[in-house]
Amino acid sequence: MRTNQQRILELFQSHILPQEDLTALLTTYTPEDLAYAQSLAKKLREEHYGNTVYIRGLIELTSYCRCDCHYCGIRAGNPTAERYRLTPEEVLACCSNGYALGFRTFVLQGGEDPYFTDEVLVPLIQEIRRRYPDCAITLSLGERPRSSYAALFEAGANRYLLRHETADEAHYRLLHPKGQELSQRIAHLEMLQELGYQIGTGFMVGSPGQTPEALAKDLLLLQKLDPEMVGIGPFVPHHASRFKDEPAGSVELTLFLLALIRIMLPKALIPATTSLATLDGLGREKGMASGANVVMPNLSPQEVRKKYLLYDNKAFTGSEAAESLEKLKTSMAAIGLAVVVHRGDPVDRLTSSIQVQSAKGSEKHV
Ligand code: SAM
Repeated sequence: MRTNQQRILELFQSHILPQEDLTALLTTYTPEDLAYAQSLAKKLREEHYGNTVYIRGLIELTSYCRCDCHYCGIRAGNPTAERYRLTPEEVLACCSNGYALGFRTFVLQGGEDPYFTDEVLVPLIQEIRRRYPDCAITLSLGERPRSSYAALFEAGANRYLLRHETADEAHYRLLHPKGQELSQRIAHLEMLQELGYQIGTGFMVGSPGQTPEALAKDLLLLQKLDPEMVGIGPFVPHHASRFKDEPAGSVELTLFLLALIRIMLPKALIPATTSLATLDGLGREKGMASGANVVMPNLSPQEVRKKYLLYDNKAFTGSEAAESLEKLKTSMAAIGLAVVVHRGDPVDRLTSSIQVQSAKGSEKHV
C-alpha cells in the first residue's frame, strides 16, 4: 500500500488522484504529511507567482438575501440579521479609496438581493469600468439568470465567484433548503465560463455533515471545472442558525486542503480567507505557507462590516482599510512575501501533453 507522501508526490507529478486515494489522504494525514504537502505547494506557488501576494478589495454590497442557506448569518430566514444596501455612490467611494491604496481588483459581494437588478448594476459596473479601466471587476452575487450574467459581463465585469459549497448531493441538501440544487450551481458555473468570465469556486471546510468522501468529491469537481480561482475557508457557526452548536471547521484540515489544491491546480489564484483568519490570528500567514497567493481585505464602509455577518466573530470588522493593508503588508513581508499593486490575473494556463475533457465537453490543455 502506498504511503500518504507517495500519494502527495503522485498528485504533484500528475495533478490528479483517484477518489479513494484522496479520501484516504484526508482521513489519515499526519502533521508530517501536512508539512510535506505544504513544501510542494509553496514550491509551485513560487514557481508560478514568485513572492507576490495579490490583493482584492472586498466591497460588501448588500446584506439582504432571498436565499436560506442553513449555515449563513444573512440568510432570508434570520430575523435578527441587520440589513443594509450600499448606494452606488458608496460603492464608488470604496473603489476610490481602494484604488488610492493600490487595489486593482474590486469584488462586489452580497446576498441575492432582488433590489440589485441589472438596471441598478449595469450602470454601476459601467461607471467602475470607466473610472478604473486598469482594474478587474469581480462579482459574487449568487445565482442570476444567464441573461443577467451576460449583461454584467458586457458592462465590464470580468470575474465571478460562486462557491459550489459541496460536491456531494446529500450534503448539499443538508446545507440548503429545497429549491437549491447542486446540479443547478454547477450549471451556473459552466454558464459563467461559457460567457467568458474567469470563475472562482470552492467550499467550506468542516461544514456540518461533511465527510472525507465529500471533500474528495470537492477536489475532483475543482479538477473538472478547472476554475481560475479557488476559495476555501473553515465553516464558522453563526449564533442564530440551526448549526449554532456545531464545531467550527479545522484550521489544520483547511491548510492541508489548500496545499492539495495548489498541487492539483498549480496556477490557480487561491486566497487565504477571512474565515481562516477568524479562527486563527495567523491564518493568513499559515494560508500562504500552504500555497495561497491572494488576500481579500475589506474595503466596505466600517459601519456596515458588522452587519455583513455570515458567521460569528468575523475578523477585521474594526479597522480601516488603510490600517488593515499596512498590517497585511508587514505580516507578509515578515514571511518573505510582497503585496503588489496588480490586477492579479492568473498566469497562462499550463500546457502539457495531458488532455482532458473540460466541463463543457470541449478539449483543453491542463
Ligand atoms: N450570495 C453569494 C453566494 O452565495 O455566492 C455571495 C455571498 S455568500 C454569503 C459568500 C460565501 O460565504 C458562501 O459561498 C459561503 O461559503 C460563505 N459562508 C456563509 N456562511 C458561512 C459560515 N457560517 N462559515 C463560513 N463561511 C460561510
